[in-house]
Amino acid sequence: MEDPRRRQREDPRLTVGEARPDPDPRPPVALYLHVPFCVSLCPYCDFVVVAGAAARGPAARIGAFLEALRAELGLRADALDARFGGPSSGSRPALASVYFGGGTPSLLPAGDVARLLSMVGARFGLARDAEVTLEANPGVDERGDAGALAGAGVNRLSLGAQSMDEALLRRLGRRHAPADVAAAVGEARAGGIGSVSVDLLYDVPGQSLEAWDATLRDALALGVDHVSAYALTLDDPDAEGLTGPLGDHLPTRAGARRWRAAAVREQDEDVAAAQYRLAVKRLGAAGYRGYEISNWAGPGHESRHNLAYWRRLPHEAVGPGAHAFDGAVRRWNAARLDGYLAALSGSPPVLPPGGSESLDAAGAAAEAAILGLRLDRGLALAEASGPDSPLAPHLDWALGAGLLEAFDGPDGGPRLRLTTDGRLLSNELFARLV
Ligand code: SF4
Repeated sequence: MEDPRRRQREDPRLTVGEARPDPDPRPPVALYLHVPFCVSLCPYCDFVVVAGAAARGPAARIGAFLEALRAELGLRADALDARFGGPSSGSRPALASVYFGGGTPSLLPAGDVARLLSMVGARFGLARDAEVTLEANPGVDERGDAGALAGAGVNRLSLGAQSMDEALLRRLGRRHAPADVAAAVGEARAGGIGSVSVDLLYDVPGQSLEAWDATLRDALALGVDHVSAYALTLDDPDAEGLTGPLGDHLPTRAGARRWRAAAVREQDEDVAAAQYRLAVKRLGAAGYRGYEISNWAGPGHESRHNLAYWRRLPHEAVGPGAHAFDGAVRRWNAARLDGYLAALSGSPPVLPPGGSESLDAAGAAAEAAILGLRLDRGLALAEASGPDSPLAPHLDWALGAGLLEAFDGPDGGPRLRLTTDGRLLSNELFARLV
């Protein structure tokens, strides 16, 4: 899940780094931990998730997973030590952010979150003001103990609200009701969580513009610090070849495939565009800054972690299906939990199966441009649009079509950013840039 996430008091390491291609491996500034457990599976979900008996009860696999996760953290830290020196060597930055994503990381006992963060601090280094986010579901039996999580070191909660409409939540297969979202936000505040975000979905079958407006209104009434608004995407990871033994997705179940096939027939791109424009209007009027295509933040509440992705900063990642980047190479763990546990519970434990890829200079430049354009700070013109740049004709086209606009950056240098129309049609522009 993801970032209009930005704060005005960003970590200096993050403000220095414009999204740019850089072929040199660098140590991570952020760490992602994937927790692949949910109480039940939502039919639209293509995250790496296992559910049911694996998530709780006598056959739950969370204990075995936590042992494997700690083993992977140790192996990844060993590799970074060998490559860049230890966290106290002075040659590596302390992590500016840690993100527990899922799945439903709020199913983890707070004591285990604390132990993981302690290990992260010891082996990777954790900045004193690091942003530590944990994704939570709002249901009463899923959201965990916010006070205990705050005590463990979590300072940002990302709640999978998705909708404030009871009927739509049922249609989406969600287990919570709108009142649970309000209760979860209240508990987070009372528990001392400093930053609270909600994820919302639009372009949901059966969701009128009026229903979306009501969800926005009700979510804003909760006084949250950050809103992520995503169009419901119904991709087919099997057809995309992502679900093989080394793939970073799990095969889609037959029931979910049928649900998606029916849902996609009901989606309407005109309604979705109107819903996005309404989000821009409502969230902007409420004082949130749309700092990324799908993300809006109150002052100082942008997601530092997701900004690291969009700025193409190096990040470490552990857990099934997790993706890491060292500034030159992207690598991922395979999604399947059995293979993950088998590798890391061996004697000695070994790194789990997965894959890697590196981009050539042109691919890296295109990726940097696409990621930069996701953000409202946009892209420095000089970086992407020199006379010899292969990106220049496409950027010129987008300027002419009103999808991009030029503006002066804080340093007075010319920059490009997406207009609202450009945000709606960003996939078309990005496809040209690749
Ligand atoms: S709660 Fe979130 S991660 Fe879990 S199955 Fe539903 S959408 Fe996927």
